[in-house]
Amino acid sequence: MEFEGIVLRVTPFKEKDAMVNVLTATGVLSFMARGVLSIENKNAASLTQYAFSRFEFSEGKGTGLSLKNGTLIKSYEESFKSLDRLAALSLLGELTLHGVGEDEASAIYPYFKNALEAIESGFDLLTTVIVFFAQVLKAAGYGLEVGHCVFCDSTKDIVAVSYPDGGFVCKNDLDEETMHPADSRYLKIIRYLFMVGPEDVKRVAFTKEECLGILNEFKEYASDQLGLSLKGHELLLRSIKK
Ligand SMILES: [Zn+2]
Repeated sequence: MEFEGIVLRVTPFKEKDAMVNVLTATGVLSFMARGVLSIENKNAASLTQYAFSRFEFSEGKGTGLSLKNGTLIKSYEESFKSLDRLAALSLLGELTLHGVGEDEASAIYPYFKNALEAIESGFDLLTTVIVFFAQVLKAAGYGLEVGHCVFCDSTKDIVAVSYPDGGFVCKNDLDEETMHPADSRYLKIIRYLFMVGPEDVKRVAFTKEECLGILNEFKEYASDQLGLSLKGHELLLRSIKK
């Protein structure tokens, strides 16, 4: 058996072994890699965090997958040189490991791959993060409805986003006590984030203020709906201030 994917987490186990979590086209897969924490191990390079690698397995003896060969396809070295990029990657990894189930994660695999490329190429970091975050919410079953009003299905006069109600709200259904009318640019951005295909991650970039506002909303929403408390969020905020 073999597959390729993005290394999300390498957890040391015993002396030189590690438990590895990899995001692949079929979801998050976990396996034991023996001896990989010793420097001279031939598979070590394929198991650096966020590396894109191919893994080959020998038939396990009832103990799950056991790594035979790991080949590094691409590493994202530029991203390791700056704290803000690393913080963004760590938030992406955290969202993948904790925001969606192992099988649901298959839907965000193409987004993670393209987000890695985007970040490595220097594309706007916060835009990349909120696109990915929206797709994680979607894969987890909490994507916002951005095609029509969540109350009446109308596609006209959309004036707000209601997180508790799960999406767009039209003028007639706006509850002025609990909802804030939003401007059309904000509504367009929210729509874009949930509709964009994985190949178009780099199509547009939004301003820092726009991204930070939405990132904060997503963080609150993920906390309310998924019980997620994201360490990478604070780290990212701290690192981009400098
Ligand atoms: Zn409505």
